[in-house]
Amino acid sequence: MEQTQYSPIIIAIDGFSSSGKSTMARRLAATVGYRYLDTGAMYRAVTLYALDHGLFLPDNTPDTSAIIAALPSIHIDFAVQPDGTQHTLLNGKDVEAEIRRLRVSEAVSPIAAIAEVRHAMVAKQQELGRDKGIVVDGRDIGTVVFPDAELKIYVDASAETRARRRFKEMVEKGAAVNYEEVLANVVHRDHIDSTRAESPLRRADDAIALDNSEMTLEEQDAWLLEQFRRAAGL
Ligand code: C5P
Repeated sequence: MEQTQYSPIIIAIDGFSSSGKSTMARRLAATVGYRYLDTGAMYRAVTLYALDHGLFLPDNTPDTSAIIAALPSIHIDFAVQPDGTQHTLLNGKDVEAEIRRLRVSEAVSPIAAIAEVRHAMVAKQQELGRDKGIVVDGRDIGTVVFPDAELKIYVDASAETRARRRFKEMVEKGAAVNYEEVLANVVHRDHIDSTRAESPLRRADDAIALDNSEMTLEEQDAWLLEQFRRAAGL
C-alpha cells in the first residue's frame, strides 16, 4: 500500500516489555510505507552509555546526576540497513546488538525512570514524528509523547507468554540465557515501568486494547491493518 492520497497519521503502540509491540509496529510500518520509531531502543542506548562510562553508584543504582550531566553528550540516531531493518546508533556507532543484551535490559528501567532522561528522549521522539506517517512503540507514546495520535493501541499478554517470546528470541540470537532469568527480568521491568512517578506505563483512555497471547503473527497483522485503515480513513 503506498502512502499517497491521504493525510499521514501517527500510530502509537504501547505495552509491557516483550508484548510483541515492536514486531507488530515494524511490520505495519513496512506494509503501509511508514517510518518506524523504536523508543525503547533510545532508553537502551542511554543505558549502554551509562554502563560503558560507569555512571552507577557503588550500590549499582544509576548515578542520576552524572547521567543527567551526560545527556548533552549522548546522541542517538537510527540508520536504515540495506535489508530494510533499522539499527540504533549511539554517538555514530552501531549498537543494535549490544543494546538487546540482558545486561542492558537489567539496567534500563531505573534509567528510563529519570525525569530528565525522559524529557530529552520525548523531545527527540516528538521531533522525529513531526511529519507524521510513523509507527511509534513504547510505554508512554499514547499518553505523553503523542497524546493526539490518530490510532493508539495498548498491547497486553501474560508475563509468561512474553518471557517465553523474549527467551526464544535471545536463544535464536545465540545468547546464553535461562528462561527463569528472562521471566524475572520481564516481571521486574513491568513493575518499575508501571509504578514509576514519571509517565508510568498505562493505557490511554482512547487506546484500543489488544491481548495477543493467543494470536498468530498473521492474525495480529490483519487486525492492526484493519485498525490502521479505519483510523486513516481508507
Ligand atoms: O521496549 P523495550 O523493552 O526495548 O524498552 C526498554 C525499556 O525502556 C523499558 O523496560 C522501559 O523501562 C523503557 N521505555 C520507556 N518508555 C518508552 C520505551 C521504553 O520507559 N517509551
